[in-house]
Amino acid sequence: MYSVAIDGPAGAGKSKITTLLAQKLGWNYLDTGALYRAITVKMLDMGVDTHDPKAIAKACESIKINVKYIDGKQHTFANEEDVTPRLRTQQISNTSAQISPVKEVRANVKKLQRDLAKSQNIIVEGRDIGTVVLPESKNKFFLTASVDVRTERRAKQLEESGHIADRVAIRKEIEERDRLDSTRKLSPLTLAHDAILIDTSNLNENQVITAILSQMKFAPNSKKSTVQEPELGK
Ligand code: C5P
Repeated sequence: MYSVAIDGPAGAGKSKITTLLAQKLGWNYLDTGALYRAITVKMLDMGVDTHDPKAIAKACESIKINVKYIDGKQHTFANEEDVTPRLRTQQISNTSAQISPVKEVRANVKKLQRDLAKSQNIIVEGRDIGTVVLPESKNKFFLTASVDVRTERRAKQLEESGHIADRVAIRKEIEERDRLDSTRKLSPLTLAHDAILIDTSNLNENQVITAILSQMKFAPNSKKSTVQEPELGK
């Protein structure tokens, strides 16, 4: 099975690029941030102190996450509840970066990610996909953009969905998540030695997709295909 690993900081455009690429290749995709967000939703429901790593580790034992694809879209489940509509709030964004450094949380999520990548061709996006989750992937990309550009993209997304966007607060949240995600001990956000860095600040979606497709070592139906053997499993 083949994979594309797409890592990068919050607001770099990973989700949009991943879903467009999945459509283009006819592959499935996995938004791994949704898995950490789903665990966060359940922890908040359970009243867990999300500043206490021991409490987080203990609570994690009773949270089972899963994903299903409905009409081609990822739905994320926590203890059988489809929590997809609850994942994209400011509170969940901030809290997910607090719980994600905990070893037990990462172990819970890692197994599901690898199992999904074993059974299908898939594009996986997150923070540690190229470094820790799928280090054997032949196609690794790291998308980034300036904080100004990422703030503006997030603000536009909110405005387009009818919300008011506070750009100062969004910028602060992005900077804080960058700090937490890059400085944690376990699986920090970092460029894999064999990943291709793409700064999307001045690129539109089509240009990013073209950059990725032209640099993939394995592209189905392409004469440029260089990878012959399956990467994971059989
Ligand atoms: O990508 P998204 O913003 O949805 O991720 C939410 C949070 O989940 C991140 O800020 C990060 O703390 C965590 N995360 C992670 N590893 C991943 C994906 C997300 O630690 N592979």
